[in-house]
Amino acid sequence: MQLHLGTLYVVQLTTFTLLTLAVLLMGLRYPQEQALRHWGIGGILASVSMLLIALRPAIPLWLSVEVANIVLFAALSLTWSGALALEQRPVRWRLQFSLVFLASALLLAISNAPAYFEQRAALYSSCYMMFNLLTLRVFVSSPHRQRLGYRLITTLVLLLMLAQMGRITLAMHFSQGELAGSPFFAMANFVLILLEFAKILAFIFVCFEALEIRLYKLAMHDPLTGLYNRRAFHDQAALRLAVHAGQPVALLVLDLDFFKQVNDHHGHQAGDDVLVHLARLLHAQLAPFDALYGRSGGEEFVILLTGNAANLAPLIAENIRGALAADAIQTSDAQHIQQTTSIGLAGGIAGQHTLRQLIMEADMALYQAKQQGRDCVRGAMNTL
Ligand code: GH3
Ligand code: MG
Ligand code: MG
Repeated sequence: MQLHLGTLYVVQLTTFTLLTLAVLLMGLRYPQEQALRHWGIGGILASVSMLLIALRPAIPLWLSVEVANIVLFAALSLTWSGALALEQRPVRWRLQFSLVFLASALLLAISNAPAYFEQRAALYSSCYMMFNLLTLRVFVSSPHRQRLGYRLITTLVLLLMLAQMGRITLAMHFSQGELAGSPFFAMANFVLILLEFAKILAFIFVCFEALEIRLYKLAMHDPLTGLYNRRAFHDQAALRLAVHAGQPVALLVLDLDFFKQVNDHHGHQAGDDVLVHLARLLHAQLAPFDALYGRSGGEEFVILLTGNAANLAPLIAENIRGALAADAIQTSDAQHIQQTTSIGLAGGIAGQHTLRQLIMEADMALYQAKQQGRDCVRGAMNTL
């Protein structure tokens, strides 16, 4: 059976439009997913443009040529802005608009040139390459570039650029009349649309991947301090204990002293500032060490020390306590708060002692620290 190219084109265009419509609807349903709206609108515009081009024999030429191409330029530019939106980078509307405007102005300027068809093809291809390169740059410079979705898009954009180059080469070799009837050209167009299809699917994939990353961060981090929350700490600690099985490990539990009074005397915001200050102090103090730490709740923090850091646990604990007590904390409303912390320490062997045992032991040491006057470290490495 012979495939009828016209029918194939209608089927392709319909499916493509439906797919982009689905992307747009998802973008409207999830307002935080700005990228889906850019790509959805871009896809719809591309469909409109392709429809106008396909209707050439039936509609005025200016509509099927100039308008169709200008709409296509706008559609292309939205791929780039969608990529920026996905990365939560500012969309550069003014630059984007200027580039589309420039391309449209150029198109209209050359519309009376004798070689209009070739020049238009070259202009469209340059725009195509430019926006794809800008998109590629966003994905390649992303911190998530190693993720599957990002690699998929990068590969597809590269393939699209290759296919486009093949299409231009063909366009340069044939005259306009021959080109329209050439099976190679029909094939190149077909491959290009297939790849565009795949790109839209990859866009959906990458949006869900980005959403997953964001949800994971939200689920695992304490919003105030940005530290791991209790659940994340427990999950990560279990992994670390498995990796360091048979080796000494240490666990510290920190609890701020008389913190309720800080809230009562200085206000809840000042209390929050103290918690944020402590998180920064922990980052600074623990950076050189093999340490996993998090906020286990309220004004309580936990630290798991592995490797060489485990043997240094008493020293590390004393340094943290000393660093906090050394200076008054300046709050966002310019109050000065002298804050101290009590620390309970427990040591054990990974694999022989569970996280639960270590935490219970460190909690008992913390209780002693509170009993014995606060602002001190209690517990020892060989308690378990
Ligand atoms: P102790 O030295 O015995 O630990 O006394 P404390 O006052 O620190 O202990 P207590 O458990 O009585 O009070 C803990 C306080 O921590 C009570 C609560 O209001 C405060 N708190 C817990 N989470 C937050 C928070 O996210 N922000 C602020 N500002 N305060 C918090
Ligand atoms: Mg407490
Ligand atoms: Mg406390």
